[in-house]
Amino acid sequence: MFTDLKNKRVLITGSSAGMGLAAALAFVRQGAKVGINSHTAPPELQQTLDKLRQYSGEVEFFQADITRSNDCAHLVDAFVARFGGLDILINNAGGLGGRANLEAIDDAFYDRVMDLNARSALMMTKFAIPHLRASAKARGETSCVISTGSIAGREGGGVGAGIYAASKAWLHDIHRNWVKEFTADGIRFNIVSPGTIDTAFHDGKSDELRAKIAASIPMGRFGYAEEVAPAFLFFASHACSGYITGQILDVNGGQIAP
Ligand code: NAD
Repeated sequence: MFTDLKNKRVLITGSSAGMGLAAALAFVRQGAKVGINSHTAPPELQQTLDKLRQYSGEVEFFQADITRSNDCAHLVDAFVARFGGLDILINNAGGLGGRANLEAIDDAFYDRVMDLNARSALMMTKFAIPHLRASAKARGETSCVISTGSIAGREGGGVGAGIYAASKAWLHDIHRNWVKEFTADGIRFNIVSPGTIDTAFHDGKSDELRAKIAASIPMGRFGYAEEVAPAFLFFASHACSGYITGQILDVNGGQIAP
């Protein structure tokens, strides 16, 4: 399974930790060429690269802040210069960006959350499209964009996380538009929509709150980043999902069933 991912060129934003890093590990295990990214170089970067390079000699770190459109352009250019093209883009970088109730939201808060979760994926996809189009044409099989959505985009998010939830719903929906524009070019667009996954995203939550959240999940626990990674492989593999586009796959332990 997933054997067609060998040598595919995969760029994953926000992949120095959490679900992005777990996805990077899953791709290199299939022999893919992988670009990982973060806005800052983490202290453990060399160990991370050493671990990934055990499986594939072709792994590179690209520092870029994807809230900045110029950085998005440079990130795509740098990846393509290194690997000679791009077959799979994963728009994974994102985050809560803080919590604010409606009456406390100002322009700066709105811009921060939307830039991190919506504009970033928009600009990354914009700059990736020519390369994904070229990949599909050259290989005679689909290339693809996969974005990390969220359960919050399905159900509105917690109090104070309304802009975050709306940014993910925005992402879910703009994929549907891109399907209409780019299917003729052989590019597929799918969303992996995690539920509550045990990453730095939940740092700062008390044990009591974590237990309460876990109890609200039919599986009774947070998910692991490694349990989300195979969903990215599935959507990336033309052999597995070449006829699937515009879809959202929820990985959430049964937390909601939309
Ligand atoms: P994480 O904090 O572990 O990882 C986020 C990654 O994004 C890190 O590598 C970080 O360095 C990078 N990043 C942050 N800002 C960036 C920027 N401006 N430019 C480039 N990289 C940046 O979090 P995670 O839980 O693995 O989150 C991954 C994605 O999953 C996010 O889009 C998040 O919104 C989404 N998500 C998370 C959960 C959850 O429960 N953890 C649930 C639903 C959706």
